[in-house]
Amino acid sequence: MTDPILAPSSTIGILGGGQLGRMIAQAAASLGYRTHIYAPENDPPAAQVASKTTTAAYEDRDALARFAADCDVVTYEFENIPVEPVSFLAELLPVRPNPRVLRITQDRLNEKDFLARIGVPTTRYRGVSAFDRMAEVVAEVGRPSVLKSSRMGYDGKGQAKILEDSDLATAWRQMGASVGIVEKFVDFAYEASVIVARGLDGGMSCYVPVQNRHENHILAETIVPAPLPADGAAKAQDLARKIAEAIDLIGILCVELFVTADGDLLVNELAPRPHNSGHWTLDACVTSQFEQLVRAICGLPLGSTERLTDCVMQNLIGDQVHQWRAILADPRAKLHLYGKAEARPGRKMGHVTRLLGN
Ligand code: AMP
Repeated sequence: MTDPILAPSSTIGILGGGQLGRMIAQAAASLGYRTHIYAPENDPPAAQVASKTTTAAYEDRDALARFAADCDVVTYEFENIPVEPVSFLAELLPVRPNPRVLRITQDRLNEKDFLARIGVPTTRYRGVSAFDRMAEVVAEVGRPSVLKSSRMGYDGKGQAKILEDSDLATAWRQMGASVGIVEKFVDFAYEASVIVARGLDGGMSCYVPVQNRHENHILAETIVPAPLPADGAAKAQDLARKIAEAIDLIGILCVELFVTADGDLLVNELAPRPHNSGHWTLDACVTSQFEQLVRAICGLPLGSTERLTDCVMQNLIGDQVHQWRAILADPRAKLHLYGKAEARPGRKMGHVTRLLGN
């Protein structure tokens, strides 16, 4: 039998070249691995720190085959990547997490159906594949609700809120897709997330649940830990473990949750990759989410997810990146910049983790 462990000096292929790919590559390099980024755009942030980069379309079979020949394992840094090229790669070498995970998590309706099947609580929802079904579906779900495009939505894009007096045709146009999902609006106390890792041997480890604050639908701040009672935190971690096992995860998975005033937990969405709400783990945990991913996909033992200190992670969006001097003047602030040249509005340029001490 061949050794399932990919030893240091092996090459990890990463589909996608954004800041997540960049931080995976940095963690991989620390453990002595080489990385190969595959991304369609020129000069992506991850290419600045990787051993090698392929610039090609995801549909380019020749480029994918050459990429596969250079790598020992492939992972991806975002879930909106087309499944077809990922399945093609999976015939050539291990892709972790496997393409089925991608198929489930890149479609909100598939994702919610999967969660319902395994008995994980979500808000009430229904799929809707034509405008003429909207009135009936909204009546079934109830108002207020949110209409979301089933695919390719992130950071609040492709969403429309449906209030008592909202016009459904306007909402449908605003959503801008041919298949949607109507979700009952959750009057949550706050949003939280929990990250779980699952290794090649099925072993799992979870980070502490955190609280997330969004501005304009983009994560602004992560507060560590979330103000959940001990049994609530354990419940959130149990849900994450249950999902990771049912989806046959090898890698890491972020579970985004709504916490209601009664302390109930409803899963909003899943991300089978490092997540923005886990960036704090770089500076405040024994093992970061990026290192944990590298360990999981290479068959290494998982590292400790122990939290060394409470902290607050703030994203630096657009012009906020210009605060770097002031941030560096704070000795307990850990600054991470993503090497992006242009600070466009809404663009994630970096983040800072402020260590609070316990
Ligand atoms: P999503 O793209 O699903 O993560 O949604 C972006 C943000 O919209 C979430 O972080 C919530 O703040 C809000 N949101 C999404 N779905 C709901 C819902 N069913 N009820 C209340 N707020 C929601």
